[in-house]
Amino acid sequence: MTGNKSEGNDPGPSYVEDELSPEAAFELAAHETRIAVLQTLQAANGGPLSFGEIRERVGVDDPGQCHYHVDKLCDRFVRKTDRGYTLTPAGWQLMGALLSGSVTSSIPEEAVDAGGACSECGGGLSAYFRKSGVTIACTACKSVQTDPDIPPAMFEDWPLEDLPEVVGRHTRRMELDAAHGFCPNCRGRVSRGVVTPADEAAPDWFDGQETDAIVLTDCQRCGRWWHAVPSIAALAEPAVIALHHDHGIDLRERPWWTLDHLAVGDVALTSNPTRVRIPIALGDGWTVVFDDAFDFVETRQTER
Ligand SMILES: [Zn+2]
Ligand SMILES: [Zn+2]
Repeated sequence: MTGNKSEGNDPGPSYVEDELSPEAAFELAAHETRIAVLQTLQAANGGPLSFGEIRERVGVDDPGQCHYHVDKLCDRFVRKTDRGYTLTPAGWQLMGALLSGSVTSSIPEEAVDAGGACSECGGGLSAYFRKSGVTIACTACKSVQTDPDIPPAMFEDWPLEDLPEVVGRHTRRMELDAAHGFCPNCRGRVSRGVVTPADEAAPDWFDGQETDAIVLTDCQRCGRWWHAVPSIAALAEPAVIALHHDHGIDLRERPWWTLDHLAVGDVALTSNPTRVRIPIALGDGWTVVFDDAFDFVETRQTER
């Protein structure tokens, strides 16, 4: 967690000892003065701030009333140390969630050239923005390449022409989080697996028309789930990142829809044991192999 400066003589993570329901946690923070206290600490890089500093910056005249609200936030979102009050990791996360849900700039109205070519007709791709995300679609045949939901705050602070690349990095980061076992939503543990249309876990819409398998990531804590086609999920794998690096491609700078050596729906699936083989047409040609949990098995030169 960035910006979470550790304090001397810290009594330890007392904020995880007791259980607190989501409703109770929400109620704790849902007060104008308490949000102002959290924002004040956040603006001070997480603290520490003395009680007097907090009261002055928040602008509450009555010390008793201010104490009441600060105490309510301890030990869940704020903790008291020898040097003053600081944000806890949960406090940072709450402020991050509030920031990512807020929008201070407007959503771009115009479409932006997204680079790459349509997988259906070879036409040019554009990024179209909506309140809850982005659609990357073909300007000629209108075929949708991807339409992820993205918090609008993610578009802030980037020039318009860079937004398609930001979308690419965001979707890639989802898969990196999944590969590390974390939910980007709640930081809970996720499970990942390869799913075919015949599997019970397969979503209703998945009929195997465009790809034989998808990689499904599921958070055991908050229930958030998402999917990716195997060739895109594979781009988070160190061996695949290295393969691209060896061919002069920095995957952070190249959204997947601009990688013409990647045939997105083109996976070979075998069972007993389950193996997903993903061709990557770089150099002499490579095949990257994953198992049923989408754990990396091997990279091998594609047989001709
Ligand atoms: Zn097209
Ligand atoms: Zn989660």
